[in-house]
Amino acid sequence: MNAPAYTGRFAPTPSGYLHFGSLVAALASYLDARAVGGRWLLRMEDLDPPREVAGAQTAILQTLESYGFEWDGELVRQSDRHAEYQAVVDRLFSQGLAYACTCSRKQLEGYQGIYPGLCRNAGHPAQDAAIRIRVPELTYRFTDRVQGDYQQHLRREVGDFIIQRRDGFYAYQLAVVLDDAWQGISDVVRGADLLDSTPRQLYLQELLGLPQPRYLHVPLIIQPDGNKLGKSYRSPPLPTDQAAPLLVRALRALGQPVPPELKDAPPRELLTWATTHWDATRIPRSATLAEASL
Ligand code: GLU
Ligand code: ZN
Repeated sequence: MNAPAYTGRFAPTPSGYLHFGSLVAALASYLDARAVGGRWLLRMEDLDPPREVAGAQTAILQTLESYGFEWDGELVRQSDRHAEYQAVVDRLFSQGLAYACTCSRKQLEGYQGIYPGLCRNAGHPAQDAAIRIRVPELTYRFTDRVQGDYQQHLRREVGDFIIQRRDGFYAYQLAVVLDDAWQGISDVVRGADLLDSTPRQLYLQELLGLPQPRYLHVPLIIQPDGNKLGKSYRSPPLPTDQAAPLLVRALRALGQPVPPELKDAPPRELLTWATTHWDATRIPRSATLAEASL
């Protein structure tokens, strides 16, 4: 039997602009797909309009284009997929696999983000409530291609988690699992900040009878001061006029050293070189910005 064809994706959230950490994730997912002749899809994770930055979607697409990325097919927007998400939430709720939670933020203080199950047996109606999925007393584990073995006991370490917020918006955990399956994603390559989301996603895949992709979590880029580069930290947006040097730095962060004669090559040429020389086994488990700029 032939192995299923490779389909990868990059799935930015327009709550901000792309930063160096996003470039590392985009580049790794792109190269891992193209190196084996696979497809590379782009999905805009615009699930949270209140947190969306005006103009971020356009800026993200323009940045990807100026860095030489070419995606297959049409851009998918999660805001176009609400009917699918709602159908799954309704089904899980009517089957008793999910339930309504009316807890206030204040009531959940002191539980370190682990939902203690207060509404599990309350039988609240779904209206004007968050919807949580019941998690089993089980450990979910997987082997990440870079980070190695990872496991989480869902009940103890996460608790029943939200799939639809009280304001009606859908949770990332639900949408990502449905869309990865719907788009036929074989390989999820993304930042290590999502490593601890993966066991929840494995559980949803199992519950919904969806295939489990392979996972590769690229290192988070740590600032020299020890802070991680990300949305929560003031990470500068990627400049569109410095694509080549920043691609070179991102390749270094991924353990793919670029020969000196290519350092001033245009982005498309760098990406072509990097595709033919891609070696995912060289990706380090963590990286600092200082190392990336050496
Ligand atoms: N949208 C998520 C983010 O920007 C990434 C989701 C994923 O790759 O699974 O952090
Ligand atoms: Zn509750």
